[in-house]
Order: sequence, then C-alpha cells, then structure tokens
Amino acid sequence: MTGLRALSGACDFSYNESMTLSTVDAYADLLRRTKEHAVLQSCAAVLGWDQQTYLPRGGAAFRGDQLALLAALAHDRATDPRLGDLLAACEGGLANLDDDLAAANVRELRHSYDRAVKLPKRLVEELAKATSDAHEAWTAARRDDDFAAFRPHLEGIVALKREEAAAVGFAGEAYDALLDEYEPGATAAGVAALFADLTESLVPLIAAAIDSGKRPKAGVLERDYPIDRQRWFAESAAAAIGFDFSRGRLDTTAHPFCSGIGPGDCRQTTRYNARFFNEAFFGVMHEAGHGLYEQNLPADRFGQPAGGYCSLGIHESQSRLWENQVGRSGNFWRAFFPRLRQAFPGTLEGVSPDDFLFAVSEVKPSLIRVEADEATYNLHVALRLELERALIAGDLAVADLPGAWNDRFAALIGLTVPSDREGCLQDIHWSFGGFGYFPTYTLGNLYAAQLMAAAAAALPDLDHDTRRGDFAGLRGWLTANVHAHGRRYRAGELCERATGHPLDAAEFVAYVREKLARFYGVC
Ligand code: ZN
Repeated sequence: MTGLRALSGACDFSYNESMTLSTVDAYADLLRRTKEHAVLQSCAAVLGWDQQTYLPRGGAAFRGDQLALLAALAHDRATDPRLGDLLAACEGGLANLDDDLAAANVRELRHSYDRAVKLPKRLVEELAKATSDAHEAWTAARRDDDFAAFRPHLEGIVALKREEAAAVGFAGEAYDALLDEYEPGATAAGVAALFADLTESLVPLIAAAIDSGKRPKAGVLERDYPIDRQRWFAESAAAAIGFDFSRGRLDTTAHPFCSGIGPGDCRQTTRYNARFFNEAFFGVMHEAGHGLYEQNLPADRFGQPAGGYCSLGIHESQSRLWENQVGRSGNFWRAFFPRLRQAFPGTLEGVSPDDFLFAVSEVKPSLIRVEADEATYNLHVALRLELERALIAGDLAVADLPGAWNDRFAALIGLTVPSDREGCLQDIHWSFGGFGYFPTYTLGNLYAAQLMAAAAAALPDLDHDTRRGDFAGLRGWLTANVHAHGRRYRAGELCERATGHPLDAAEFVAYVREKLARFYGVC
C-alpha cells in the first residue's frame, strides 16, 4: 500500500490523536503537486528526446524557447513557499504515523525543496548563462585544441559552483554539496576513500595484464557489421534481458542516452558504426539496463521520491550490470554467440567464442574515457574526481589544470597525453557545471559488482539461466531489491539491504581479477 493511499482513505489507518486531518490534507496536497511537477518535467523530457533524435534543424531555436518556459515553470513550482508550508505540516504530523514510505517521501521532498530555495535566483540565472556560453566555448576549444579559449569560462563556472556549495551548505568540504546533487548523502571523503582502495588494487593488476604480452586476436570487433543486422541483434538482446518495447523505444542519436519519460514510456538511443561491433551493442545493453530500472520503478508512485530512481550511482549500477557483468560474461555469450554468428555470417568466420570474449574483455590503457575498457575506465574517473575536488577546494587553479591532468594521467594510466583535446578538454561535464557527476560512473561499477555477487548468492540457477538466455530470475531479483524501492532508501542503505554490507571495492576488484586471470594469466 502506498503512502498516498494509506493517507487518503480515512478507514485505511488507525486514528491517532496527534494526527490531524490537516496533516492528511497537507500530505495529499504535497503529493499532488509533486506529481504535477514530475508530469511537467516529463514534458520537457519528451521535447529533449525529440531534440536529439528527430527535430529538424530549423526547429532548434523554437525548441529552446519551449524548454526554457518549461524549466522556468518547473523552477517556480519547486521553490513555491506553499511547498515549504505543506512539508512543515507533514513533518509535524508524520512522526506519529507508522508509514515509512510517507516518511521517506517527506524526507526526500524536504531535501530537494531546501536545496532549491537555498539557491538565490541570481545564482541560478548566472549559472544558466555561464554554462550555456561555456558549452559553445568548450565545443570550439575542443575542436581547436585551445584550452586558453575555454579557461575563462571554466574559471567562471568553478567560482559559481563554489558559491552554489556555500549557499547549499556542507558539513565537510564544499565538494560535498555538489556531489550531493547526484549522489544524495555521499561525501567527498567517503568516495575518495573508496577510490583509493580501488586504484591501489587496479593499477598493478592492469600493469600485469599489459606486461603479460597477451592480446586478443586482432581486428575481431573491427570488421563488417552491417547496421541493420546490428540493430536487429541489439534489439533482440535488449528484449531478451527484459526491456519492454511495448513500453519503450530504441532510436538513433549522436550521443546515446536513456530517458524514462514516465510510466509506460522509456526512450533509449544508440549510435551505429558499421566497422565496430562494440559501440552499438554494448551501448544498447547499457541503456537497456537504465531502461529496465525506469520500466520497473513502481508506476503507481510516479512523481514521488519513492517512485523515482535512488541516485545516479544506483542508476549507473543497473546499466553497468547488464552491459558488463552480464553482457561481457562467458555465460551470456554461450547463449548469444550462436545467434551472433547467424546475424553476421562470414564476419565471424574463424573466430571462436573464446576469441570473441577475449576481444570484448580486452584491457588496454587509452586516452579517452568513453572508449576505455571496464577496468581502466575507473582510473579515468579517479583522475577527474581528484582534479575537480581540488578545483572546488581552491587547491588547483584552472590555469594549472592541463599540467595537473597530464601528470596524473601518466601516473595513473601510464600514457603521455599528446593534446588537451585528448586530455582535459575531452568531456562535456565541466562545461555544464557537472562537478560531482563523474564519481557516480565508478560508484555504478562498484554497486553493480556488489549487487551481482548478492544476486548470484541468492539465485543458485543464475549461471545456468544466463547460459540459456533466460534473465527472468536476475531481473526479478533486481526489481525486488532495487527497482521497487525507488528512493525510499538512500543509496548506501539500499546497498546494505540488498547485499548485506556497505559499498566497498572488493567485489569489483575480485571481478576484474577473475577476468584478468582468465585472459591474461594474471593473479
Ligand atoms: Zn549510463
């Protein structure tokens, strides 16, 4: 029973003297407004999806007007003082109501409301303007490999983000306030400790794999993979893991994403490369993992925190789990390699299932994060966490960013960065002020490994089912332990409830170690 139903029917809960009708009314009104807010945001999400898929070029300026109006309406609603009154009324009465779902909704709505009202309108507008200008500047600076042109924009954004952190408030360091937007409850110190453990284990493992001199058969993934066949194969895999195409779509875009528009409507996108298998296939597995989370959130709680995703780290755990833990496993390819051969006859002639599996599991240090393998990827993220934390703390000047990037890149990943275009200018995130976003990618990997280990312990037939291409058991476990809870619990608590212990790097390191032992003979 949801909190809304429990509170809206007078017979559904026992009378408690300290409960006044006004609390019931306040909670019902709060949820009504929250749902309207979510519906408004879903309208912007449809327009955003359309903008990146089918919008004719001529409609771009008008689309900007439409999205700006929706953003302004959403901001007004999110900071409406009436929301503060309703929250206060709920907080006064809910203490005596035995309904942890309602309590979680009020807790999370209070958190969002406080954050929204603490930001001065002037700061919100300045950030919107600065990041809009910075996006153009970053695009040109990356193209021209010209950090100096981007530098003043980034300096402006760092200053504004520090102001934002001061306005929101923090207990430890300013970066905490920024991280909290993406991973509520996480702290810089806690995340940095996890990353330190992870890096300490990964760096020597990766070095040993490289030193082994073993390499997968060359060019297996860079052959002719006709796009129509890729689309068919990727869609059939997405459907097999449970993405419901009657409640979702897959379209083509330049920058793949997944957007949960609302109940019964989830849009994922990918891009195809006719001479490279991984891009579309693992992209679709990744976005379908996000999509499964969106499709299995409790639809009757749409708009409530308890019906929304938990955190970006948990969202990313769902994509990484299906993309890597499942999609790059030997069990998965036992079921899918014969189908792959059927889809691309000729292309895979002379390639054994083991050759193919080694090719999609290859560990190879590279310059660009989005092209990195699943082990070194986390070192790219560790580098960004270190640098953006130092920028926000004031320990690193923007002018010194390229040098710091290159030094730390060499230390962590062992490559010399030849240009800023392939170095500190490669990602879009800092241009939109997304400080605190990067760590959620690696948190997703760690959560994915820990969840997968817990699922394997709970599902004795998991390996057998995966080899048959049957994912109902794993999907059901994820829905029961992750999806169904929405944001009822914070990520740390959700993880402990689902896996029995707080998040650490151990399961992910064990996962990488096992793979490297198999393919590179590294222990
Ligand atoms: Zn993702």
